[in-house]
Amino acid sequence: SRATEDYGCLTTVEKKVNSLPIIGSNIGSLTEAQAARMNGAEGVGLFRTEFLFLGREDFPTEDEQFEAYRAVITTFDKGAPIVIRTMDVGGDKQLPSLRLDKEDNPFLGHRGIRISLNRLDLFRTQLRAVLRASHFGNVKLLFPMISTLNEWRRAIVQVEVMKSELKKEGIAFNEAMEIGMMIEVPAAALMVNRLADEVDFFSIGTNDLIQYTMAASRMTTHVNELNDPLQPAVISLIDHIITAAHEKGKRVGMCGEMAAHPLAAPLLLGMGLDEFSVGGAVVQPMRNLLGRYDREFLRGMSANVLNMDDVEEIRRYIERELHSSN
Ligand code: PEP
Ligand code: MG
Repeated sequence: SRATEDYGCLTTVEKKVNSLPIIGSNIGSLTEAQAARMNGAEGVGLFRTEFLFLGREDFPTEDEQFEAYRAVITTFDKGAPIVIRTMDVGGDKQLPSLRLDKEDNPFLGHRGIRISLNRLDLFRTQLRAVLRASHFGNVKLLFPMISTLNEWRRAIVQVEVMKSELKKEGIAFNEAMEIGMMIEVPAAALMVNRLADEVDFFSIGTNDLIQYTMAASRMTTHVNELNDPLQPAVISLIDHIITAAHEKGKRVGMCGEMAAHPLAAPLLLGMGLDEFSVGGAVVQPMRNLLGRYDREFLRGMSANVLNMDDVEEIRRYIERELHSSN
């Protein structure tokens, strides 16, 4: 049977077992949030907050960040999930005001949560702003580039410290705000069963996870064959992440480009991915695509793909399967 039911609001969908997955949007600004809403996004699966920090000499204040987060929250319906990721600079996103040392391998260096944990002044300001915003909507906090359990715990300590600070000051926030982490480093992917004891949810960042798994840059074109979401190693690692997280009852979303890949997305649904976050312009096309296939059929297809050894074999097989089921 083909799923043609309507999608309702996200909170309703969240409660339905085996219903269509949540499709949220990736945004970096209020303008993108508004565009995503116009295009039918029901929430934000990834708010890349680094864009508030880029292209300026100083750092955004707590109030400025709080207002920016609240503006995005009020763009969507009440209760819509808004996943706010802490600043992920470094790598390809340089911030002159941080005065970071120049690195030969910026993608393997100081970036994301590694910077936040070294700049607690900036991290704490951002955490306070996100916590304050959590009072106004269904805000979830997300950390980028976590590689170890230790980094996760150090980040959580800071959240706890900021919570008690706000409490003392009598400032409202959501005590039960969910906190999750990106899985974009293979080391974290391999530790999901342990991380899952402490993490509320996972979001797979395939733009980085693929480049780190395949040792093939997301930037250049010479290694495109390796930097491919249909590589069996990539699919196998993602299967491990989803299975290990589900064993501990934790949800897994994806906010990397792979979530919008026309062949990979149905495969991911068959593998049990719970949430997809994609560019605002493709929210509706993805909803149509994912609603087209029977879940059992996709489960069978993904089981077969997990036994295949070659990227081209996988590509041809999925193309054939999806085509024949239509
Ligand atoms: C990713 O790595 O897949 C991701 C969503 O994060 P970014 O593209 O911002 O690095
Ligand atoms: Mg990333």
